[in-house]
Amino acid sequence: MSLPEISQKGYRSGFVALIGRPNVGKSTLLNKLVGEKIAITSPVAQTTRNRLRAVLTTQSAQVIFIDTPGIHKPHHLLGKRLVQSSRKSISEVDSLLIVFEGCHPPGKGDAYVVKLLQEHKKPVLIVLNKWDLLEKEKFQERKEEYKNLFPTFDWPIFCCSAISEDGCAGLVEAISKGLPIGSQLFPSGMISDQSEETLLSELIREQVLLHTREEIPHSVAVKIDRIQEVPPSNGKNAKSGHTAILATVLVERKSQKGILIGKGGAMLRTIGRGARLQMETFINASVYLELFVKVVPHWRSKPGSLAELGYKGD
Ligand code: GDP
Ligand code: MG
Repeated sequence: MSLPEISQKGYRSGFVALIGRPNVGKSTLLNKLVGEKIAITSPVAQTTRNRLRAVLTTQSAQVIFIDTPGIHKPHHLLGKRLVQSSRKSISEVDSLLIVFEGCHPPGKGDAYVVKLLQEHKKPVLIVLNKWDLLEKEKFQERKEEYKNLFPTFDWPIFCCSAISEDGCAGLVEAISKGLPIGSQLFPSGMISDQSEETLLSELIREQVLLHTREEIPHSVAVKIDRIQEVPPSNGKNAKSGHTAILATVLVERKSQKGILIGKGGAMLRTIGRGARLQMETFINASVYLELFVKVVPHWRSKPGSLAELGYKGD
């Protein structure tokens, strides 16, 4: 990886956290803004568990985005850790991107997010995402409704769609301009500071959520057991090189294990195939993926299991 190259006069750099309720599109937006698949997204709420970082380097600024788990009222230990984690992100960054679901009017949960953020006195940009789902006639009215959530603050509002990309370029420009003057903090080629292991395990978890939906909501975690580079072999049975990845999917109940494995192992094969294809794109090599499923009752409430899986809440 090359050293920072861009550090000319007027260059800006800094940290920006994406904050908001679960499922408003924070991770999708982050992927779009950075232009690579970094954060996992899903139609199921609370997909993002760790604070993910992603780096966007342009000619005029370097933005380090921090994706956060959604802010909501916590119900169990994992939920509490997720919210703690989001609050910690807020105190560490240069500015905040508060993401709302612009296709719906603001609700109680949105007011809770604003209340949490007011205490911090950080520069804030408001994003009304999912603008593609809103009829044109409602644009102005919807903007006003959100503006009324923070009447005493002069936070600029950006309307965009993380799916169609409308409004995203303007958002990047505004974010960049709001950062402090400073040189590049990370090399240009770097996109995420998550370990390769974490990113790979997230790709598996995404496939689990995608294929099982309601049946296995949040009680699933993935641990990468081994990553091994297998060099190409010559001779009679010549094989090209590949990366072998062994991973364990943890669930809380035996019934969930059954769903994950599926009839004759069909579900696990579908999940494995989906994850393998994404991994191959991500690491740019052919991948051999082997998945195991293990039942660990109540892992979400056990500090030991949470720590082992890396959910520290700090
Ligand atoms: P997060 O929990 O805030 O990180 O939300 P995700 O990024 O995981 O997105 C939740 C769901 O909303 C996914 O199904 C996304 O495809 C969808 N989504 C995100 N942004 C948009 C958008 O701008 N328009 C539409 N139509 N859907 C979106
Ligand atoms: Mg997310």
